Amino acid sequence: MSLDALPPLRDALAEHGLLAKKAFGQHFLLDLNITRKIVRLAGLTPGDRVIEVGPGPGGLTRALLEASLRVTAIEKDQRFGPLLKDLAQATDPGTLTLVFADALSVEESVLMAGEPGHVVSNLPYNVGTALLIKWLTGPWMPASMTLMFQKEVAQRIVAPVNGQAYGRLAIIAQATCEAHTVMDVPARAFTPPPKVESAVVRLRPRTDRPSPGRLEALQRLTAAAFGQRRKMLRTSLKGMVGEPLIEAAGLDPAARAETVSVDGFLRLADAWIAAR
Ligand code: SAM
Repeated sequence: MSLDALPPLRDALAEHGLLAKKAFGQHFLLDLNITRKIVRLAGLTPGDRVIEVGPGPGGLTRALLEASLRVTAIEKDQRFGPLLKDLAQATDPGTLTLVFADALSVEESVLMAGEPGHVVSNLPYNVGTALLIKWLTGPWMPASMTLMFQKEVAQRIVAPVNGQAYGRLAIIAQATCEAHTVMDVPARAFTPPPKVESAVVRLRPRTDRPSPGRLEALQRLTAAAFGQRRKMLRTSLKGMVGEPLIEAAGLDPAARAETVSVDGFLRLADAWIAAR
């Protein structure tokens, strides 16, 4: 069987008696026009290796395979096994690798066997942020990420300094990657529709990505600074960084965390590392 000959996704779900499970954050994209658009936005080259978390019924997986990408799909819900095996059989051997596991605990570098890998996923909302942090902070970092999140999370990833959504997630994401929202997706595009709107974010690693030590310092400082978001830096960072160090980083000790740019936090991380 070829990909073209596969039954429509709705029929494949019905044939296998599959209904969405809320506990697994299951909201399916059954319109191939949307999944094909997401794959186009990922901007990949035929033959590239891709990790897809949560293929579910395989709508996005089909679009990835149509684009001649080599896909490793990680699914936690074993019920999708037979349906996804039908999909694997419709492609050349080795094109679609199925892994039934929790994506939070897999070792991507082992799955990719040393080759660079991209991530393209309609992420389960309940673990989307945890997965993004895992990929941003390493040890394995994707060559690019094209990820569907609930819109509020997408806004927190791309938020500019001084914006309402600006916080730890924006700083870690933007210190490590160029991050842009590339597509808004209304709730009605999913089956069943979620209560919130969604958006696709594309992230590409920066060439000047911080070292692991710098990134760890950044995580600790932003946790303290945004843990008391309304307080001045001199108060929220008390016990970690004194006023002279804050000033040495070119920052005002009376400033609040939400007014400090990503570069400002990176300078603070450097000053803190140098003083330890
Ligand atoms: N990609 C499909 C689509 O677009 O129609 C399904 C997306 S649905 C939002 C999320 C998928 O992730 C579900 O298939 C769910 O079973 C799976 N999932 C949830 N938690 C997971 C985890 N920790 N590891 C791997 N897959 C997970």
